Amino acid sequence: MQPTIQSKLPNVGTTIFTVMSTLAVQYNAINLGQGFPDYEMSSELTNLVNEAMQKGNNQYVHMNGLPLLRQRLAEKVQDLYTTKINAETDITITPGGTYALYTALTTIIQPGDEVIVFEPAYDCYIPTIELNGGVPVLISLTHPTYAIDWDLVKQKITNKTKAIIINSPHNPTGSVFSAADIIQLQNIVSNTGIFIISDEVYEHLIFDGKQHESILKYPDLLERAFVCFSFGKVYHCTGWKMGYCIAPENLMKEFRKVHQFNCFTCNSPVQVALAEFLKQKENYLQLGNFLQQKRDYFFDLMAQTKFIPIPSFGSYFQLYSYVNISNEIEKDFAIRLTKEYGVATIPTSAFYKNEIDNKTLRFCFSKKEETLERAVERLVKV
Ligand code: PMP
Ligand code: GLN
Repeated sequence: MQPTIQSKLPNVGTTIFTVMSTLAVQYNAINLGQGFPDYEMSSELTNLVNEAMQKGNNQYVHMNGLPLLRQRLAEKVQDLYTTKINAETDITITPGGTYALYTALTTIIQPGDEVIVFEPAYDCYIPTIELNGGVPVLISLTHPTYAIDWDLVKQKITNKTKAIIINSPHNPTGSVFSAADIIQLQNIVSNTGIFIISDEVYEHLIFDGKQHESILKYPDLLERAFVCFSFGKVYHCTGWKMGYCIAPENLMKEFRKVHQFNCFTCNSPVQVALAEFLKQKENYLQLGNFLQQKRDYFFDLMAQTKFIPIPSFGSYFQLYSYVNISNEIEKDFAIRLTKEYGVATIPTSAFYKNEIDNKTLRFCFSKKEETLERAVERLVKV
């Protein structure tokens, strides 16, 4: 008799990113759904990886990550946020940002612990909490500004609250934390045992002169935080699945206990290459401008359509409302848009556990101008 699995995630299907990307291929649609660039990454960086391989950097590096890469990241943090990070004890290189988030949550959650999640939420947060026996406590961001109602957060704190997950710049809405949000967060967590999981994979993708409010800037928050990053977003190489986590030594010590039995250590030549490439600061310092141009280019083109933009101040994404076009639920409309008009997007309801439907779709504008043009040529017809 074949054994049966009692599912740990009985209510979860395939992630919407895979669903929509598969549909995009099937219907030969332009894929503005899943967040990935369709333009080339730096050939200098790919050459550095080649070189690293050819020079023999092909065996395990230290389980916490290549020391030189961690050193360069510590220097970057010091430069950007004036915070001193110990490269030896406070940084671990991970196979992507998702893994960093998973490991951080797994490190802290005990069965029954509550974790505050703002919705719409990046799709891995809630399943990761649940896999660890935790209880997601859901708070909706206020549509359409997608700001945090901090009074509501205060009401939701209980003696079981183990952590708050924050994500700025925010996927899928493009909202960003302000200094006032930080003060609210400081007030809420001070004198508590609450951890912060900060998803900062879009750290550099911030627009209109706004400053990224990294948790790394605030010692009273950092002392209780796991801050997660992704190289995929910084260097246009989402398929590399490389990232890192920063946390104070005592927290990182426990994180590494989990990490060592899961992936243990990441791709060596890529780490050698990234350590070298990180020396060129302009590569990440100009990213905000680069993506802002794409956001603006897409925004201007979309003015010809019936879609209504919801402001995005960061990330790869912009939400558009289709209330002027259809009453369909988001999933149905997104599928029809893919099949009939040849443009794939992501229904924002997929980022809500209860599929809250505000008639908005998420568009990824991190694409070549010609891709955005071709997509809008089709969207004009909707
Ligand atoms: N967090 C957010 C908000 C994301 O959009 C993504 C997607 N890249 C990740 C985490 C995961 O990054 P990675 O691909 O490095 O796992
Ligand atoms: N982060 C990207 C997005 O939000 C893709 C992630 C994924 O495919 N899992 O679209």
